[in-house]
Amino acid sequence: MDSPLRAERSSTEFQRLAPQFVQAIWKWIVCGEAPDTPVAPWTTPAEYYASMPLDLPAEGASEDTLMDTVQAILSNSINPWTYRFLEKLYTAPAVVSVLGDLLLGAMNASVHVFSASPILTRLEERCVQGLCHLFGYGVEADGVSMPGGAASNTLAVQTALSQALGGVYRRGGVWALVQRLQAQGRQGPGARPAILTSASAHFSVARAALAAGLGADAVVQVPVDAHGRMDVTALERLLREMHQDAAHPHGMPLIVCATSGTTVLGAFDDLTRIAPLCAQYQCWLHADASWGGGAIFSPEGRALMQGIEQANSLTVNPHKLLAVSHQCSFLLVRDRRTLTTSVDDAGYLFHEAPDAPDLATKTLGCGRRGEALKLYLVWLRYGTQGLCAHVQAGLAKARTLLTYVETHSQTIELGPLAEPLFLQICFRPRGQGSEGTRRAHARLAAQRYAVDFAPLPDGEYLRLVVHPLTSLETYRGIIDTVAFN
Ligand SMILES: *Cc1c(COP(=O)(O)O)cnc(C)c1O
Repeated sequence: MDSPLRAERSSTEFQRLAPQFVQAIWKWIVCGEAPDTPVAPWTTPAEYYASMPLDLPAEGASEDTLMDTVQAILSNSINPWTYRFLEKLYTAPAVVSVLGDLLLGAMNASVHVFSASPILTRLEERCVQGLCHLFGYGVEADGVSMPGGAASNTLAVQTALSQALGGVYRRGGVWALVQRLQAQGRQGPGARPAILTSASAHFSVARAALAAGLGADAVVQVPVDAHGRMDVTALERLLREMHQDAAHPHGMPLIVCATSGTTVLGAFDDLTRIAPLCAQYQCWLHADASWGGGAIFSPEGRALMQGIEQANSLTVNPHKLLAVSHQCSFLLVRDRRTLTTSVDDAGYLFHEAPDAPDLATKTLGCGRRGEALKLYLVWLRYGTQGLCAHVQAGLAKARTLLTYVETHSQTIELGPLAEPLFLQICFRPRGQGSEGTRRAHARLAAQRYAVDFAPLPDGEYLRLVVHPLTSLETYRGIIDTVAFN
């Protein structure tokens, strides 16, 4: 008996169903573009669960039921095409990227070995080259696409540890690192490998420490200045003290993780000052440019990341600022020889064909989706210049909106801002503290905007993320909602 999945030719089924899917998606985008469409389809999670029971039937459903379900799934989703979903650091994706997702699904190839995905391997290599070039890395640089910034940061930490102290980590793990440090005279807690990062760094740095078996306590938080940047004087003092004291309670610094574009304020750590310190104290420098990295396409954005070419590795997420659909992230390394954390004993997979790169040798994983295709399509369609103009549009919008917020200074108070300004503006109703923020947040949700809030040193503030794709009118509507109530 044949599988029911092959009851008819795939080409016949595709020809019948694909237009229906495309039509449903198209209608949903049209709906998103209509001015009154809510961003979110529900009020409370409980109501939402009740409205979508989601059957798992014993017998296959009819195609009518299938299409009704597809409709229901779309209408029960956050609709990014309203461009009013401003809760996160991404918004609606570029259309060619969405279609790229369809291509990837149809190809169903895994980018572990060249023989399984020759063109996806090449597309990934090409995007890696292009990104490395923009970031100022030389020809010896390399990189790999990863399922998200947290995954890239995790691989960065593994890569850094693999290079530390004579490369003992790959086989001996943390235990071997500790032994090395003890052999160098480090004692007690002083022999614990440590990661230094700013207090404003993304939580994935701590997760990466956890994944490496270092534990979250191995992450030492360096204070930030009033604009959310790592305090480099404090970093220098920590590095010096940790090195001098063989039994330092924070351990031995092996990695410094700087942030290029922090999640709340959009601050950029000063890599021109941090990189020489890392060289002096033999620390691996990782730049988490998950959010800010997309700005590398514009000269103004590049200026914010001065010195990033000195980082040993960096993370960039085209799925944030560059409107590539989820997921699309890259880990880039300055020296290609460092990007092999795996212990490649899988003769059944890796056949080491000359000139046929097997990209899985660069990761801790095996199969991977060829997400670089989507960045490639976006890059191909808009060009480096188009992406530059995209970034510049966002930066200009942020400045215009900051001025607009300032004209409402009687009713709105600004929170701390990145200096220079990037794409986030934190503010809240004047004189009402965190409660005012919560009330404004609820009011915005009722007005069909999705804007997040975040804790800052003196309480919670709304965090307005300025996306190049969202109109100034939308942003003014949000600011007005907070200002006049
Ligand atoms: C978003 C973000 C991440 C995590 O990226 P994901 O793709 O969501 O895993 C890491 N670091 C920074 C600074 C970020 O803004």
